[in-house]
Amino acid sequence: MLDIKGLHVKLEEEDKQILKGVDLKVEAGSVHAIMGPNGSGKSTMSYVLSGRDGYEVTGGSATLLGEDILGMDPEERAAAGLFLAFQYPVEIPGVGNMTFLRTAVNAQRKARGDEEMSSTDFLKLIRAKAKDLQIDPDMLKRSVNVGFSGGEKKRNEILQMAMLEPKMCILDETDSGLDVDAMKLVSDGVNALRSPDRAFLVITHYQRLLDHIRPDVVHIMSDGRIVKSGGPELALEVEKNGYADILSEVA
Ligand code: ADP
Ligand code: MG
Ligand code: MG
Repeated sequence: MLDIKGLHVKLEEEDKQILKGVDLKVEAGSVHAIMGPNGSGKSTMSYVLSGRDGYEVTGGSATLLGEDILGMDPEERAAAGLFLAFQYPVEIPGVGNMTFLRTAVNAQRKARGDEEMSSTDFLKLIRAKAKDLQIDPDMLKRSVNVGFSGGEKKRNEILQMAMLEPKMCILDETDSGLDVDAMKLVSDGVNALRSPDRAFLVITHYQRLLDHIRPDVVHIMSDGRIVKSGGPELALEVEKNGYADILSEVA
């Protein structure tokens, strides 16, 4: 599904290398978790994959379903099936949440050669999905994320993911700021989307989320590289002992 090889990334503005050779392969149907200390480059990797400005790829490659994505515009990457749930969801005053989602869903369908979804079908679908995530119908009428609580913003990211049905879903610390019940809702939302032709990359600091979303592989990122990979037991080790032991062992 996703194949990253030797990815090197620096900031455009400063001469600062952030990713220093990331290698990562995520198979279709699987869930991979990425953990790692703050500042190790987890969000930078997500941004670079989704096409955010301000970064320069200085080496390596990234393909989605065999297609090079690093040369694509962000909307082309989305049409190719990539989705990123932001660590810090953005407020967009003046753009209604429902309008935003409908435009995104239809752009996606158009890119895939499908017809626009009718208003009735769209309404039915979004109401059902919002209900699953316990998102108040009022939140669908408000501007995107404006006045939403931290937890509501994160649930709104999962609503977008559920509506767009991407192939490769990246969740950047979607669990931070969620209470236990909301975390369960988000996990259920992710688990409902698991399928043999979809994959997930879940960035998190907490074992709690991984109790609900059972990952197949857990990676530790440190200083711009994946330094260790293992099974779910690796997340338990982090929870118990922190990163210090693992990092000194690989150093
Ligand atoms: P993580 O998500 O693992 O906490 P980040 O990808 O957010 O890490 O950050 C990696 C490193 O890059 C940090 O040292 C951070 O300060 C730096 N960094 C990322 N983006 C910028 C930026 N736009 N300007 C300056 N430094 C940045
Ligand atoms: Mg961080
Ligand atoms: Mg981050």
